[in-house]
Amino acid sequence: MTLEQEKNPWLAAEVRFDKAAATLGLDDGMRKVLKKPAREMTVNIPVMLDDGRLEVFTGYRVQHSVARGPGKGGIRYAPDVNLDEVRALASWMTWKCAVVNIPYGGAKGGVICSPTLMSDGELERLTRRYTSGIMDMIGPDQDIPAPDINTNERVMAWIMDTYSMHARQATTAVVTGKPMELGGSLGRREATGRGCMIVTMEALKKFRLTPETTKVVIQGFGNVGGMAAQLMAERGFRIIAIIEYDGAIYNAEGLDIQALMDHRKETGSINDFAGGEAIDKAEAMFLQCDVLIPAATENVVTSQNAERLNCKILCEGANGPTTAVADGILAEKGIFVIPDILANAGGVTVSYFEWVQDRQGYFWNEKLVNERLEDIMVQSFASVAKWGETRKVDNRTAAYMLALDRVASAIRLRGIYA
Ligand code: GLU
Repeated sequence: MTLEQEKNPWLAAEVRFDKAAATLGLDDGMRKVLKKPAREMTVNIPVMLDDGRLEVFTGYRVQHSVARGPGKGGIRYAPDVNLDEVRALASWMTWKCAVVNIPYGGAKGGVICSPTLMSDGELERLTRRYTSGIMDMIGPDQDIPAPDINTNERVMAWIMDTYSMHARQATTAVVTGKPMELGGSLGRREATGRGCMIVTMEALKKFRLTPETTKVVIQGFGNVGGMAAQLMAERGFRIIAIIEYDGAIYNAEGLDIQALMDHRKETGSINDFAGGEAIDKAEAMFLQCDVLIPAATENVVTSQNAERLNCKILCEGANGPTTAVADGILAEKGIFVIPDILANAGGVTVSYFEWVQDRQGYFWNEKLVNERLEDIMVQSFASVAKWGETRKVDNRTAAYMLALDRVASAIRLRGIYA
């Protein structure tokens, strides 16, 4: 396999799928059904730019499975979005929702664009036109988008408004990750990072570590990595390094995360932070630590560098941070992997709570949201561990097996409509 193939997320998704399906003894027909996305849409969307030029952007929405419930999954805006990536991300949503046992299938969307170079007006026009393009696919009972890389509450509000204008009624449950004023949920913003912290705490028990004795390195300081850092620092973890796209910062005693957040807010970057020393961002991932949390993007742990990881626990905050080829190397090194479809499932879990609250028109307090999230994450961690122990497989394969089994079982019960 070439490095390019190794880094194709759809191929990585296939390798993991095949391994779990074989270990599970899934029949050929079911494998075919579960492998291919159920529905894919490509839209080419004209958007008027601020300078008067008309530009056409390409966007996708893929529903991998709607067997257990409506499609669910984020929308990302990035220059390198492609259909194979969106397919893989959609399938990971199917498995993720099944691992935490929430009543959704899996979907994902993406638009090829450079959001940092676009004005607010351009982003709004792009979002609204993309929403209208995929309108027939989404809906509270069909497919519910959410934020992902480079999309946020504001983008969700535009989607909610565009959909609602067409539906001729305010339809808050069509997206999650919305502002509080529009039916958002308390705790949603922190949910993915909180989920990472909860499963890491569960993993620590296996190593007889306590938060105070645990050194953590986090890649990414955004919605997932930043929140995980903040919540873990509050619990007493020693966050010794934060790695961002434009630099990395290190402090052996543990970084003051709140101060680093304030510094970033003021200067726009983690660089030049007085409470730590700047280190090489390409090397920081290989620092000796107990927990490494890649919480940025895909393909950061590959066949080229997995050997150099120096952690006991790898908690995958991002989707697909480890290539399938690297899995074997991590296993040989004895690294305890908390796979993405479990580790970062806190986000979609609270998205589910948001959707439930919107549909009921009755909102929960933050304590209730966090307690229910914790219950689900702890239970899911235990279920994956149990599958791993009884079937003698690694955590990732165990999580996939649990997920495949749940989705296949739903399909069998529904039967094939002919
Ligand atoms: N984009 C997030 C993920 O990959 C959240 C999805 C959601 O809340 O639907 O899990």
